Amino acid sequence: MSKLELSLIDYADYTNVNDISNALLRNIRKQSLNNQVPIPVPIHDIAMSLDIASIDPIPPEVKSFEGILYKEGWQGFIFYNDNSPEPRQRFTIGHELGHWMIPSHLTGNKRSCTKQQTSSFTATGKNIPKEVRIEVEANYFSAQILMPSFEFKKDINRVEPDLRHLFRISQKYNVSMAACCVRFKELSDFSCVIIHHHNFVIKRVLKTKGFPSLDRNFKKGAFISPKSISAKATTDTSLEPVDWKVWLQNPNNYKTELYEQVFQQNDGYRITLIYLDDSKELDEDDLELERLSEWNPKFKK
Ligand SMILES: [Zn+2]
Repeated sequence: MSKLELSLIDYADYTNVNDISNALLRNIRKQSLNNQVPIPVPIHDIAMSLDIASIDPIPPEVKSFEGILYKEGWQGFIFYNDNSPEPRQRFTIGHELGHWMIPSHLTGNKRSCTKQQTSSFTATGKNIPKEVRIEVEANYFSAQILMPSFEFKKDINRVEPDLRHLFRISQKYNVSMAACCVRFKELSDFSCVIIHHHNFVIKRVLKTKGFPSLDRNFKKGAFISPKSISAKATTDTSLEPVDWKVWLQNPNNYKTELYEQVFQQNDGYRITLIYLDDSKELDEDDLELERLSEWNPKFKK
């Protein structure tokens, strides 16, 4: 791809995170081959064409932060924690670019963000403090740019949900598996839930639209179901049928089947996928029955 021609002024009228990221992606697509955002997304080039003057590792004396945005005159300077893995660094650069582009995020001339602030996608409660909202917004911005909905949706919805497939997608986009799972939750056409756990303790629950209620015991801080495939398996598994009683609050719809898969990460971290196959696809026998039911012969007397 040739050098991106982007200009901050084109986004000055937008105030909403989605509007800004969509407008930015539209402009990148216009300048790209086949009208598609290049994958992995060239976040460095994008930032540098939007008046970010440099992107450098955080100096050793302020290592407690994951990312810093600094403004001087009309230029911005992004710093990232270079001890973190590359996908994490890229996400941080996207996060700081979010602070740079979303109005009201940078009130003074500097913003310093911790690891926790650059990882959180949820803010709960009625009166969410502005500081918390800003960090969540910057994370959404980063996820939307690094995993553009048009391209990402095609990749995740091409085949049935599978954590190994999702892992390959995270590598293709050069993003962390954690960020990839959050984006999957938003854009998947399938009915499923992804549970991150550490030593069997639930850390994050990501439910796609339409997935029924999990048993109320399974929330953050609780243990995963002891009867689950995830509790028993010692390696990665494929999607395997599982009894609804293991995970769900209420009986499963009679037409659907529940499947479970577990995927190992490092240091006791594991990911579980629970998938409700509610596709009403007709198999060969159904099609034959349908054909027979339509065949309505009229015999001559
Ligand atoms: Zn931040």
